[in-house]
Amino acid sequence: MDSVDPALRRPGRFDREIEIGVPDEVGREEILQIHTRGMPLSDDVDLGHLADETHGFVGADIESLTKEAAMKALRRYLPEIDLDEEDIPPSLIDRMIVKRQDFRGALNEVEPSAMREVLVELPKISWDDVGGLHSAKEQVQESVEWPLSNPERFDRLGVDPPAGVLLYGPPGTGKTLMAKAVANETNANFISVRGPQLLSKWVGESEKAIRQTFRKARQVSPTVIFFDELDALAPGRGGETGSNVSERVVNQLLTELDGLEEMENVMVIGATNRPDMIDPALLRSGRFDRLVMIGEPDVDGRERILEIHTQNTPLAADVTLREIAEITDGYVGSDLESIAREAAIEALREDEEADIVEMRHFRQAMENVRPTITDDILDYYEQIEEEFQGGGSGGPGPTGRRDSRIGFQ
Ligand code: ATP
Repeated sequence: MDSVDPALRRPGRFDREIEIGVPDEVGREEILQIHTRGMPLSDDVDLGHLADETHGFVGADIESLTKEAAMKALRRYLPEIDLDEEDIPPSLIDRMIVKRQDFRGALNEVEPSAMREVLVELPKISWDDVGGLHSAKEQVQESVEWPLSNPERFDRLGVDPPAGVLLYGPPGTGKTLMAKAVANETNANFISVRGPQLLSKWVGESEKAIRQTFRKARQVSPTVIFFDELDALAPGRGGETGSNVSERVVNQLLTELDGLEEMENVMVIGATNRPDMIDPALLRSGRFDRLVMIGEPDVDGRERILEIHTQNTPLAADVTLREIAEITDGYVGSDLESIAREAAIEALREDEEADIVEMRHFRQAMENVRPTITDDILDYYEQIEEEFQGGGSGGPGPTGRRDSRIGFQ
């Protein structure tokens, strides 16, 4: 629609605009019913459930999905079909059914068209894949899961749910991971926008990209939009870095975020290592008004993160992850992931046939991987914490959302 000359859309010309959107869940179930009308379905196929899982599918996609499922079912009976015979025996036809597993398989192959332009995904990361960071997890859950899964809770108490959450902290602490986990757990679609990439890919048209992203998010809702490196996209206006482009981008973001209030089922999560660089207007109430620090993991967190990243690695009896966790103060999630990988590589380096990783390999890996958190970094985030707690750019919202629990967990 954006590419239609506005002159054509003036009154007296094409002055009625009907958006043929993507069908919602009810619509999808009806379309599924239509396309499976003549199909022998097994009892375990639940069209309602399938409608729930096909966010972003339009009619044509659903049709392909049902055809693909039928093909999968047919393939199952292929060995029983004698290809030399012209007809399939009626007794076999009577027995043929399309099962839930056929639809599952088809779902992996048919891509919904609404998702093609702006990349929408259903992340596979769950909370179990995020180690430590308990208090941050809780805050993200209540600011993102509640509004998406139980918006009525906020209605009941007469307050607006938070519109956006800003995750900030040192690199590699799991901000992206956390955004994906929360989207997955609420069964929401996930649209990831990297600040610098959006600027370079859409030179001169970055605002349009933002508008489209939000539109897509609405179409395929429930959706979590994740703005990674938000500082690159929306640096403080008027400063040295504030060019015309970023000013327009910030304005567009503000417009979209303000529009979110009436729009349910879209949550915005921003992530940054440099929260002080972000335009303060974005941090005001009703926008990214919930600030959550994703800091350095504590010893339990580090142990859990090591467990997560060694779950498929055979470990020798002398490896105690607890001991490694105890001596890796200052290491963040991505550092620990590197240690696990390095240790395995170390074992292979020693012996190409190695099938187990020993404690000495971990010790060697720790020598090679340096911790991300240094004194300077700690100082920087402590200062930020003071600034934000000291009132920062915006006052507390009606839900007391400015209670950002800043601190290293
Ligand atoms: P950046 O600021 O650089 O974008 P980030 O905070 O978004 O970093 P992630 O991309 O989430 O960091 O993490 C990088 C990798 O480190 C992840 O793919 C994950 O494997 C690992 N990791 C980080 N934190 C954790 C964690 N808490 N639990 C498990 N793995 C983690």
